[in-house]
Amino acid sequence: MAGDFGTVFMPEMTLANFDGSWSESTLVPSDAISINPAAHVLHYASTCFEGLKAFKHEDGSVKIFRMDRNLERFRQSSELLYLPEITTTMVGDMITQVVAHYKKDVPAPPASMYIRPTHMGTEPAIGKAASPSLTSTLFILLSPVGDYFSGSEAAMRLLLDDTGVRCGPDHGRVKGGGNYASALKHIMRAKEEHQAHQVLFCPDGDVQETGAANFILFDGDEIITKPLDDSFLHGVTRDSILVLARDRSMNVQERNFTVDELLERVAKPGCEAGLVGTAAVMTSVTQLVYKGKTHPVGTGKPGPLIPELRSELNAIQWGKSADRHGWLIDV
Ligand SMILES: *Cc1c(COP(=O)(O)O)cnc(C)c1O
Repeated sequence: MAGDFGTVFMPEMTLANFDGSWSESTLVPSDAISINPAAHVLHYASTCFEGLKAFKHEDGSVKIFRMDRNLERFRQSSELLYLPEITTTMVGDMITQVVAHYKKDVPAPPASMYIRPTHMGTEPAIGKAASPSLTSTLFILLSPVGDYFSGSEAAMRLLLDDTGVRCGPDHGRVKGGGNYASALKHIMRAKEEHQAHQVLFCPDGDVQETGAANFILFDGDEIITKPLDDSFLHGVTRDSILVLARDRSMNVQERNFTVDELLERVAKPGCEAGLVGTAAVMTSVTQLVYKGKTHPVGTGKPGPLIPELRSELNAIQWGKSADRHGWLIDV
């Protein structure tokens, strides 16, 4: 499992093509696909993807975490990009087929098998800038991934950007390449000019999310995060952490909040902030940079609540505590 996150792949993947109807899913080599240089995706970014994980349990079984959520989101991203229609059953079968094929290669916790479904428009028609691709390719890549936190607890420094936007304001729910492309220049500037790891997009002061993870604020008993709207990606990890917090009778507030409120709250020692997403589950944010000034979050050190909630979620994923919400499916 050497290499950075997402650079090592299982040698085969499941793949299906749409050309009027869907082909059977087949196992094919995962190191190359053939694509027409005029393919719609290469010019007009008709592509979306998903990210979810399979875990090995002590009894040797393999479980996929909340696949239903990722399947529905993938179906929705495809629909919003006007790609050929997919069904959650079809993609779910393609995922379980390839994970079952590589069951023995799913590493034990804290490592896992990262699953990357991808759907893209392949119609060779560069004249179709303003119309959808009528053909597409869908594949399921697998990548064994290690412990994000080998070594010490991560501590993130984020730039609060109240002028840039991650993507079109009504396009945030699409998990697609185009949104990543439009966010990149803001992230690169934040790295170069502010030594920040990521940008927290806050257009007109509205605290949204970073380029690839949702943002949650913890203040004593209160948990504050943006309510579900079209501007940002509705993370499965975000939802899972909120469920665990409600189980603990914490005061979960899904509401809009501003940069002013954020900076006011993080000045208190009992405050923590976290980035949530499938890859790392939840990472502590310890510094916010705004208008050239660095604001430590709470004590300026990670924890204790964030690592605790992350461990609680990992324990369910890894089969160390009861799957009380029915989040795991057997492969
Ligand atoms: C994938 C993604 C997330 C995290 O979603 P999870 O389902 O928790 O992995 C958050 N923001 C963006 C922009 C994403 O693409």
